[in-house]
Amino acid sequence: KTKDANQPEFIQALEEVLHSTEVIFKKHPEYEKMAVLERLVEPERIIQFKVSWMDDKGNTHVNRGYRVQYNSALGPYKGGLRFHPTVNLSVLKFLGFEQVFKNSLTTLPIGGGKGGSDFNPKGKSDAEIMRFCQSFMTELYRHIGPDVDVPAGDMGVGGREIGYMYGQYRRIRGKSERGVLTGKGLGYGGSLARKEATGYGLVYFLLEMLKENNIDPIGCKAIVSGSGNVAIYAAEKAMQHGIQVIAMSDSHGYIVDEKIDLKVIKKIKEELRGSLKDYPKMAKHGQYFEGSVYDAKLKAEIVLPCATQNEIDLKRAKAIVSNGCIAVAEGANMPDNNDAISYYLEKEILFAPGKAANAGGVATSALEMSQNSMRYSWTFEEVDEKLQGIMKAIHQQCIDAMKQYRLGKKNYVAGANIAGVQKVIDAMIAQGDY
Ligand code: NDP
Repeated sequence: KTKDANQPEFIQALEEVLHSTEVIFKKHPEYEKMAVLERLVEPERIIQFKVSWMDDKGNTHVNRGYRVQYNSALGPYKGGLRFHPTVNLSVLKFLGFEQVFKNSLTTLPIGGGKGGSDFNPKGKSDAEIMRFCQSFMTELYRHIGPDVDVPAGDMGVGGREIGYMYGQYRRIRGKSERGVLTGKGLGYGGSLARKEATGYGLVYFLLEMLKENNIDPIGCKAIVSGSGNVAIYAAEKAMQHGIQVIAMSDSHGYIVDEKIDLKVIKKIKEELRGSLKDYPKMAKHGQYFEGSVYDAKLKAEIVLPCATQNEIDLKRAKAIVSNGCIAVAEGANMPDNNDAISYYLEKEILFAPGKAANAGGVATSALEMSQNSMRYSWTFEEVDEKLQGIMKAIHQQCIDAMKQYRLGKKNYVAGANIAGVQKVIDAMIAQGDY
């Protein structure tokens, strides 16, 4: 904590995990001598590099690129790349730390990592994005590989960016190693259902959690924050299960609509890369407002935060609860701060933390790796079925950990942390003192 005092997001993530896993360390006093805690929180390797690229007018710019290779006890580092102006080491270390335990929960053989750049893709032309991605990969390629480190997308990095990076990797390496990146296009090694996986998986987890607590989701109203990859497919799956999504948002504002038209949202965000303020005109219904959807005091039983970290503080959590919320499931990483989470637990709101609830994306990325290794493709239905099985297994691991440590039936935060952390500790100890 003292070494990294200037990294607030990282400290926040550490506190959240370490607070609820204290029980493990109490049960195992022998861990102290083995420095298990220190080995767990220290990234194995951090790479930082220069990314210089030329814009369409011939001006050269320099951004900073990173890859945090956090822990490989369970398998090759795996985790997304984020291109966003807020990216710095604190953000990537928090994301990498979370990723280690999330990946452990998927039950698949993957370690954890995260990377990205403070590059802002907004407003850039296709050619500028391509040149940036090529420059980024010109350094990153030497640190990754199908059995070493397998990056994927995150905020600001979708199919287009993965395609440009994969092309550059192939150009430099002179061979086709499909398993080096996931989230690829379907024509060159991508997996069906990967695009949908995080959002769909989030709803599969939510449904398990509601079933466990005898709550029928049909007719419940939901707020989904964000309108990017995770938010769109969370909203789609929620609607398929009879949940009424009444609001979605982006970085400037939000829409409220009794009948959200997801085709229009997809058109705005996936094709036009535009703003939700165009939604009412294009959908011919609904209203757009500036500001955060969590300040709008909308009545909803379900809240799915799918935008970014620290969207919900204590004040917003109180408003969410007083407006009738019974379940919050995190599609984004750390969208609720620790005060908000403590408040949900105190009020016995069902709360699914991101590392369990949004693990469907990385799990399906691992399925993409398997398909690449086999040189074979599963159908959409096959991947979706495996995804459902994985989300059920993650839910069950949370329940089992809650039972083992007598934590009641609603402490999914502790359940997920304990189950995820224990597996990594066991693998680390079995492999010696690394
Ligand atoms: P996208 O870039 O596709 O979408 C992000 C969305 O959040 C956009 O709608 C964006 O608005 C909005 N947003 C960004 N910053 C803010 C802000 N400060 N306030 C309100 N809204 C904001 O990213 P993803 O959907 O891929 O990722 C969303 C979250 O989910 C991240 O936390 C990510 O780490 C996490 N996640 C993603 C996975 C994946 O498979 N993609 C897997 C697991 C977790 P705008 O459109 O205006 O930019």
